[in-house]
Amino acid sequence: MALEKFQMLIDGQWVPAQSGKTFDSYNPATEQPWATFPFADEQDVDRAVQSAHNTFLSAAWALTTAAQRGKLLRRLGDLIADNTSQLAELESRDNGKLIRETLAQVRYLPEFFYYFAGLADKTEGETLALDKPDMFAYTVREPLGVIAGIIPWNSPLYLTAIKIAPALAAGNTVVLKPSEHASATLLELGRLVMEAGFPAGAVNVITGYGLPCGDALTRHPLVRKVAFTGGGESARHVIRNSAENYAKLSLELGGKSPNIIFSDADIDSAVNGAVAGIFAAAGQSCVSGSRLLVQQDIYDEFVSKLTARAERIVIGDPAQPETEMGPMATKAQLETVEKYVDIALTEGARLRTGGKRADLAAGWYYTPTILECTRHSDTVVQEEIFGPVATVIPFADEAEALALANDTQYGLAAGIWTQNLAKAHRMIKGIRSGIVWVNTYRAVSAAAPIGGYGQSGYGRECGSDAINDFTQLKTVWINTSSEPMADPFIMR
Ligand code: NDP
Repeated sequence: MALEKFQMLIDGQWVPAQSGKTFDSYNPATEQPWATFPFADEQDVDRAVQSAHNTFLSAAWALTTAAQRGKLLRRLGDLIADNTSQLAELESRDNGKLIRETLAQVRYLPEFFYYFAGLADKTEGETLALDKPDMFAYTVREPLGVIAGIIPWNSPLYLTAIKIAPALAAGNTVVLKPSEHASATLLELGRLVMEAGFPAGAVNVITGYGLPCGDALTRHPLVRKVAFTGGGESARHVIRNSAENYAKLSLELGGKSPNIIFSDADIDSAVNGAVAGIFAAAGQSCVSGSRLLVQQDIYDEFVSKLTARAERIVIGDPAQPETEMGPMATKAQLETVEKYVDIALTEGARLRTGGKRADLAAGWYYTPTILECTRHSDTVVQEEIFGPVATVIPFADEAEALALANDTQYGLAAGIWTQNLAKAHRMIKGIRSGIVWVNTYRAVSAAAPIGGYGQSGYGRECGSDAINDFTQLKTVWINTSSEPMADPFIMR
């Protein structure tokens, strides 16, 4: 079958890489290449950043009012809504995510653009209560300039929307680098950005590998902020690059989130929450509830019910609406999952279910896996696997649950399942993570900040504060005295 050929969006034009090189993208459900993308190198990165920089300074963008930018973002949200099925199908083919999951994500996507459209003309400086009678001072919030968006493969559209909506609302311009494993939908989003009426160069999309493309982008001297979502190793490169160009950073790096089930919880509801936490997106989610902590007196009942549900999960073609779990997005990710399960078994974990590839003719499928662990120090309990692997550990009481929950280098999310409001509040206060869900899991809103503590990164996306992160303050001083300014070298 002929491969679909994509081009990059630079300065409003659809272009190949200057070198003419391309790379293939694979459909994880078939293991076959389905599309080719330009292989961007330093030259292409420079073109894209120069375009974003020129647009940032141009009258066509710099003189837009905040209200006009809000209107453009609303139009973009409407266009996304008009193209829901097409975007969802494309993302599903490219990264193997279930069509039911991509459809749900894309249906919500316009809300991010509407939310930040609404904030565009409400992002204001303030007048300052100075201690100097003859001075008047105020602050202005101004955009930063060129923003680099580094996007992973697990949820490209969603993770892009939460970056570009506040970035554009605040008046910045953007260069996006999708993962080499899932570039297609960002190019399609680029087409909608142009259709919405944004000037050429306001959003550029370049496709390529972490090296050289992502590296060259994040160390480019004209980039003023990098909004990054991905793994810790790549984040360290981005942080080092920021020592060269002083770019601001926001880093969202995943986690090993505890999902804590107390014996007074509604057990069936908690089982559903545990399944949503770890088997949705085949566990390839930064907020996966991969560390299940279950109170001793309901441990057997809970694990039996969870195992039964995990074994009923329908694995298969992500394009089919009845499928409940799709493949790993890449062969490398599948091998990572296998490696971790092997380590778990060597370290003495008990395999309750799963632990092997799914029995399908093709595709990078792994079965929903539950590992019962006794030591919280086990590798699989401490390290992020990014696959459909839940570890389960019993706890005796609230104090032990809290100690185990916080025994991690990460701190992105946590789930608490209990009917006891006071207990929930005590746990919320004690848990060190950026998000806590009580009697629910994976709820997302444009209005609710997302981000982590510890090695889950820093900075927050979504919520009204997020737009400020894409601005810088200018402080203005006005001398209101009727006296001329005195000669500073004549002492009175
Ligand atoms: P990466 O961190 O490599 O990928 C994230 C993005 O960073 C991709 O666009 C990638 O490009 C880019 N990138 C890679 N190297 C550099 C660099 N030196 N400079 C700038 N950008 C770079 O994730 P992986 O795919 O390798 O996954 C590794 C692990 O990271 C996973 O197993 C998981 O634990 C975690 N992860 C977390 C995610 C989250 O949502 N927080 C999402 C994805 C992964 P390219 O893909 O082309 O190399």
